[in-house]
Amino acid sequence: MSEIRREPLLGYEVVIAARRAERPQQWDHSPPVAKSLACPFCEGAEQLAPPELWAARPHDSPANGPGWQVRVVPNRFPAFDREEQPGEAQCGDEFFPRQSASGWQDVVIESPQHQISFSELSPENARLTFLAYQARLNALKSEGRYAYAQIFKNVGAGGGASLEHSHSQIMATERTPLRVQQELAASRDYFDRYGRSYWAELIERELAAAERIVYADDHFVAFCPFASRVPLETWILPRRADSDFCGVDLARLEQLAQLTQRCVSQIENALEFSAYNYLIHTTPFDINAQAYYHWRLVILPRATTQAGFEWGTGMFVNPLPPERAAALMRSAQ
Ligand SMILES: [Zn+2]
Repeated sequence: MSEIRREPLLGYEVVIAARRAERPQQWDHSPPVAKSLACPFCEGAEQLAPPELWAARPHDSPANGPGWQVRVVPNRFPAFDREEQPGEAQCGDEFFPRQSASGWQDVVIESPQHQISFSELSPENARLTFLAYQARLNALKSEGRYAYAQIFKNVGAGGGASLEHSHSQIMATERTPLRVQQELAASRDYFDRYGRSYWAELIERELAAAERIVYADDHFVAFCPFASRVPLETWILPRRADSDFCGVDLARLEQLAQLTQRCVSQIENALEFSAYNYLIHTTPFDINAQAYYHWRLVILPRATTQAGFEWGTGMFVNPLPPERAAALMRSAQ
């Protein structure tokens, strides 16, 4: 059973998920395994994973067998419990506030072959991966049970991946996580104060400054943010106001998949390694933030680790200025 505990003074949240300790650790502390025979995500091993929830099957092959390009299955070792009663009341007292952690966790398997990084996928598999994200996000939204869903990807031991086969995850929660609430509240405050979107303003200023821009066209902008927490941290945003990833049209999804592949590839070329996370910030299901928020995809290369100083102060030490990082990425195409 999982539960969410909140630190009472500062309010940070922790999911205590004892069952996660049972999951396999391909990475462990040994060198990466090139290919595991027991990989549950490879084509032909479908019976090792739970029944699929979504799949791209170009020749209409039967579910849960070979013949797919991208497929989605439930996570066998979820951090959140499905069984809990929805909306179970918070309990404990003000010093030990706790709440049942109920939610849902998908795994998006991005390729039938045992590829590892998102940059190795065919453009078609990258496109279908983003299509799967959106389809599952909309399905979870329509269940009416969840408040928010986080799309994220962990690659490499440094990125927290426990299996190396290229995959991403979607975690849906019944309550909007505090961090997400804070970002939306700050965006809303800015809008109330200045009458325009912080995110629209930020994009305009980054484009004017130019030095942190990695890529820009009529629809998207990619840049290394001014206060990058890690070397080559990269944000991809829609240029026009668009707060909800659920509604991105198919042409833009395809373009986003390509741009993400391109940025990941530039990061890998620049750093000569491949451990990273990416994640998509979007609005909670029941909030319309079109006027003051932009969804965004954040790539966090894992060249540095959070050590004692970061844990003690909350300040990140980034040895690579984002202005140099952006130049490095532009030249690493
Ligand atoms: Zn595999």
